[in-house]
This record gives sequence, structure tokens and C-alpha cells, in this order.
Amino acid sequence: MSERVACQNSGCSATILPTTALKTGGTCMPCYQKKLALEKEAYILQNRKDVDWYKGIIDPVEVLKIMHTPRKYNPLVRELPYHKSAQELYHQLTKADCERLETYAISLIDQEDFDQAETILLSLVCFTDARIERALHAFFHKGMYYPGILYKEASPAIRDELIHLVERDPANRNHLLLALAWIGDEVVVRLFAKWKKGPPVWASNLYVPPENYAHEAGWELDQDGQKRLLFHLESYNFEVYGEKIGGSEPVNAAAVVALQPDDQCCPWCQSKLRVLIDCHLQDPLVRFLKLSGERLRIAACIHCNCYGTVFTKVELDGSYSWSEFNTVPEFLPETELDEGLPLRTMRISGRSIGTYEGACWTLEAPTSQIGGHPAWIQDAEYPACPCCSETMEFIGQIDMEQAADSEGIYYAFLCRACLIAAVNYQQT
Ligand SMILES: [Zn+2]
Ligand SMILES: [Zn+2]
Ligand SMILES: [Zn+2]
Repeated sequence: MSERVACQNSGCSATILPTTALKTGGTCMPCYQKKLALEKEAYILQNRKDVDWYKGIIDPVEVLKIMHTPRKYNPLVRELPYHKSAQELYHQLTKADCERLETYAISLIDQEDFDQAETILLSLVCFTDARIERALHAFFHKGMYYPGILYKEASPAIRDELIHLVERDPANRNHLLLALAWIGDEVVVRLFAKWKKGPPVWASNLYVPPENYAHEAGWELDQDGQKRLLFHLESYNFEVYGEKIGGSEPVNAAAVVALQPDDQCCPWCQSKLRVLIDCHLQDPLVRFLKLSGERLRIAACIHCNCYGTVFTKVELDGSYSWSEFNTVPEFLPETELDEGLPLRTMRISGRSIGTYEGACWTLEAPTSQIGGHPAWIQDAEYPACPCCSETMEFIGQIDMEQAADSEGIYYAFLCRACLIAAVNYQQT
């Protein structure tokens, strides 16, 4: 056996075999690899070039095409970001711009580059009021029915083809039902009501009854078989204001404030509850909620809410209390009391946004909002009111990436008949 020698690196106490020393120039393997990594890093720093893909380009359609083009990561290239987000660019598109982008998406669909086409079409559907019927035809004829939100304003012709297929294409039935739910016009409502009365034979192969797919598109059948919307068409986004809580933030007089700390404690983990959404109900911005009182505060336990729905009994004077209907989640890890993330308070922005502006979390735009369609990360999850069993209406959502550079979304709901609020949470 050969004698071991010390690693040449001062400060390292490892000993190595002479054969290793020959390979590495005298250091142990970990020290050797560390040196190589440092050298590589230095090389990258010295040789990295800034690349501006947008230089000289002012046409927003061309800028968006570049933005949506997937590029291989190259450590020697630092891509300079565009000074506007994709969402901001979509907002400034004219009708003709939207049509050009739609045409571009169709060319991508023809080349079967579905990912890129999907992002463009989703952005058009969520961020603009463009209709994408031409692209939808191309998408449909490739047998693509997902994401269903793309179909939300499909023509009766496409709707009827979807209805035809849903009976005959079991492999795609799940996506076809979602697309139909998103169309949700009178014909679809009648069809769902018919299925509810007499389930088709194939319904037994689904996880949920076919009419329940409507929740994914924010509606359900009421007792008379009519369409009941579970969200508000009006919507405002939240903007971060002030610094992280902890200092002496002035209590803001905005119509809606999100994520304010409160004195009530969560009975499960003893940490302080947060008022997820604090709404001054008579402010013109939130009259669309059509609630008659002064104030609505919907509270959550930022910790426990990650493991189950939390209900509160609310009064329309802003007071609330932990609901007797709460049941401890099956899985609830302990939390250290001061462990919580520092959260930024947010307030409603004065600018109204489109109903579906925050509906698609994959578009990477901030989605904190009051009203509008929720951005479900998982399947739609409208809680049933624990008192009257009716599905609760969506009030707003808080995007944790905006609030704390964290992840996941908290969703707030209300049963206006029982004055019970609920909060649940989803993450990837
Ligand atoms: Zn070493
Ligand atoms: Zn808790
Ligand atoms: Zn109720």
C-alpha cells in the first residue's frame, strides 16, 4: 500500500493517494474540483457578452415574438431584458397587432410548436380582448383541446364539433369537457343540465360528474339548471406599497388592502392571523361586489391555510371570528411562532383589469387581484359553504410571489347568505 500524502491546499486537512496527487497536481479531489469550478466561473465572467435581442426593434409584435422564442441557456451570454413585461406589451397591442400575432401563432401550430403557440394564444385571451377563432380552428384541427380557456369564445361551429367529439373520443374527453365548460354558452349549459339529470354512460369513467367541469370555468348549474357565475367579471389588481411590514406602516385608506397583520390568533398554531383582504364595501371601486355593509375583512392563517381551508364568520362592519365549522387539517406540521415570511402589504390599484387578466398563473404575470377569474394552480377548488352547502363565490386572490418572493396563491371566498368567508391555498 502506498503512503498517503497531505492535500497541498493550505487549510485542507485531507490526505490523498500519490496517484491522486499526480492527477490533481497535489490536492484532494474536492479541492481540485473547487479550483476547476472557480476557473470556469472566472472564464465566464471575463468572456460573457451582453446580448440585446431587442436592439432597434420598436414594433411590439416583433418584440413579443422574440420574447416568446425559446432560447438555449448559454452561460457566456447575458440576455438584456426588455424594459416592458410581456403583459404590458399585450396591453398596448392594436386589433391589427393582435391579428398579426394570431397569424404567427397559426404558423407555429402548423409547425407543431404548440408550447410557444399556446403562450401567445393564452396571452391574447387573458391580456387583450382579441378573439382567436382562426387560431382556434388550427389548434382544434391538430386535436388540441387544452388549455380550455382558449376556447372560451369559440364559435358555435367549434362548439358543435366539440360536442360531437365528447361522445366519441374517450381519450380526449377530459380536455373536451374543459373546453366546453369554458365556452359555457346556452347550448353547453343545457347539455350539462341534461347530463346532470341523466348521466351519459361514459360519465362513470370520469373522476367527477361531467357538469362539475363547469367549476374550472367559474360557473355551475343552479337548482333550475341555469348558469350561476362563481366569480365577478369586474376586477382590479393589487400593487405592493410601502416596505415590508414590521415598521410603522400607516394604515392605508385604500378601498382594499391585502395582507395586513391582525391581533387575533390562529387556534391551531397560535400565530397571528392575517387579513388577506380588507375591503371598504362602499368605495366605488368595489361596489361590484354588491355587499351592503361597510367593510369586509377576510382573514387567513398564512401557515395553516397551506394545509386546508379556513372558514371565518364575518360581519359587514369588518369584524370576523374563527368559524365553528373549521376542522383541523389531517396533516398540519408545527410552525415556529416567528418563522413567518415578511409579507408586503398591497392595495388595490385604481385601474380596472380584464376578467381573465390573472386567470393563468403560467403566464408569469403577477396575479393578486380582487374580483376576476381565479388563477387555479391545481384543479378549481371553490369551497362549499359549511353552513348552507352552496358553492362559495370567489372574492380575490393573493399571489405570494408578489407578496413575499415566495410561491403559491391564497384564494378568498364568501357565502353572502350565511356571511361565512373561506380561504384556501394552492401551489405547484
Ligand atoms: Zn483538499
Ligand atoms: Zn395557524
Ligand atoms: Zn352559506
